[in-house]
Amino acid sequence: MSNARPNYKDLELRVGFEIHQQLDTEHKLFCNCPTRLVSDEELRNSPRFVRFLRATKSELGEVDEAAAFEERRKRVFEYIAPSPASCLVELDEEPPHEMNREALLIGIAIAKALNANIVDEVHVMRKIVIDGSNTAGFQRTAIIALGGYIDDPEGRVGIQTIAIEEDAARKIEERNGIVVYSLDRLGIPLIEISTAPDVKSPEQARRVAEKIGLLLRLTGKVKRGIGTIRQDINISIKGAPKIEVKGVQRLELIPKVIENEVRRILGLLKIKEELLQRGVTEEQIQNRKPIDITDILLKSSSGFIKRSIRRGAKAYAVCLPKFGGILGRELQLNRRFGTELADYVRQWSGVGGLIHSDELPGYGIDKNIVESIKEKLGCGDNDAFVIVVDQEPKALDALNVVKWRCIEALRGIPRETRAANPDGTTRYMRPQPGAARMYPETDIPPITITEELLREAEKYRPPTPDEKAEEIIKKFAISRALAWQLIHSEYLNLFEELATEFGNKVPPTVIATTLVSTLKSLLAEGLDINKITDEHLRKLFAAVAQGKISKEAIPEVLKLWCKEPALTIDKIIDKLSLKPLTLEDLTRIVDEILMKHQDYVLSRGERAFGLIMGQVMKVVRGKIDGKTVAETVKKRLHEFLEKKIT
Ligand SMILES: [Zn+2]
Repeated sequence: MSNARPNYKDLELRVGFEIHQQLDTEHKLFCNCPTRLVSDEELRNSPRFVRFLRATKSELGEVDEAAAFEERRKRVFEYIAPSPASCLVELDEEPPHEMNREALLIGIAIAKALNANIVDEVHVMRKIVIDGSNTAGFQRTAIIALGGYIDDPEGRVGIQTIAIEEDAARKIEERNGIVVYSLDRLGIPLIEISTAPDVKSPEQARRVAEKIGLLLRLTGKVKRGIGTIRQDINISIKGAPKIEVKGVQRLELIPKVIENEVRRILGLLKIKEELLQRGVTEEQIQNRKPIDITDILLKSSSGFIKRSIRRGAKAYAVCLPKFGGILGRELQLNRRFGTELADYVRQWSGVGGLIHSDELPGYGIDKNIVESIKEKLGCGDNDAFVIVVDQEPKALDALNVVKWRCIEALRGIPRETRAANPDGTTRYMRPQPGAARMYPETDIPPITITEELLREAEKYRPPTPDEKAEEIIKKFAISRALAWQLIHSEYLNLFEELATEFGNKVPPTVIATTLVSTLKSLLAEGLDINKITDEHLRKLFAAVAQGKISKEAIPEVLKLWCKEPALTIDKIIDKLSLKPLTLEDLTRIVDEILMKHQDYVLSRGERAFGLIMGQVMKVVRGKIDGKTVAETVKKRLHEFLEKKIT
């Protein structure tokens, strides 16, 4: 794989994206439940329900390909319905209520800020979703604006549609064909902004996504934290279909995902060319049948394979004519063509994975066994083969999926929906859904956009970044640098709330610094700052405001919460013995340390300050502010010297 940067202009790279951002409304989009996620404990104590979903034909008489794919997987869906954050609407046992007005107003304000045209009438539609993430089998979505644009130095990027829709249920776990979802997230309003495929480089994609993200945050009405903003990226280059990549959660991954996806497409185009040069035909692949090689693999030294076979699994293999060397070809970092095949069989057949000839000998399969397999399959030196170990029908099914994917390799790039991996590579998820997956929501009448609604939406108009900076500098007396850091962080809204509530007792600069730098340094130390909720921060600053802890203790408290989020603030104060020191206590500690080091102090005089200060801080850190400590040490050191010298 070459690491040279491709020429995106020559490749005619076109990127568009869909940004989904949760809105911070009080209630859900179609019911009165609050828009909050419940704790793990609430989740454990909530009732569960089981549902099956199946694909139905749309009004055009077609079964959506993505829906058919899901049905084939025959998964069972289990729903947890936490009563503080779900009702009969989420369970699909009660019709949806009217669309939440606040969500609509925020949506209109955002659409106007993106120069889009608001529709005259909003029609709620049902979009078929049968991965179980929605109890009804569809997601409600409503276009509120069309057109619009966002300017960028590399060129204007059009906005195609802006919609308000309901978020899906929250996936908790998946095991043995059972997927467990929590209904707390289902129905939280989202705004979906779809851009035109006008983005021409990975860097431009990042800039535009950042700009839109900032505009959304400046409304002050969007949620923050992991999973509250998700981007789907559509990528195409010359000679290849559009590929959808779902679920990019961090902006900095956007350029990486695009680069990786382009690399993969180019790699696949090269593989196609090479296979055609080698003279591979679809029939040659089609004619190869999976063959039972269980006896041969019993001689391998792989504990895993032998255990599976003892439990009743079979080993099957299929020869892939003239595919020698292709399966080991790297398409993205540590992801080979063989990895693509493995993703396909995992998704379509539910088997755990496969072994291919380009990675053998290995996995306890030695050279002799490889030779026996090749002989049994009738594989020549330029051929490749794939092994699957599983129950017989599943293994056979998986190998047919392998053949099908290899035939696709001769045709070019399959139209796929892929998922983003945390490192910015992508993996196969499912076929792309067709257009035939929308139909009208009959339970909700169309909403006319009146002049009154438009006027009311004005109050949600996001200020420009400059306007916002001036506003918070003036209101909270923080530095310009800190103001800009806040604006570019996800904590702006929270800062305003906390500074308004506690600003007269806790300096707003301390609140801002905690949000934009203390949390960041905890993250850099490897702590899981996602465990820290707004509620934690509110309790923290309340404790500082009440004088229960000093502001110096803030990092220590947050650190402990990252590890034990369930602890109350009083427990933490106890545990870390954070009760603030009185000046009297401090003076006593300083004197003790001076006595302990008296020889050193007497020989060094005032220059002993550094050592004494260090020793005192070891004892009092987090319990009293550093300035007071320094003043006290200086004063007592001086007095100590005076007394001893005279
Ligand atoms: Zn509800």
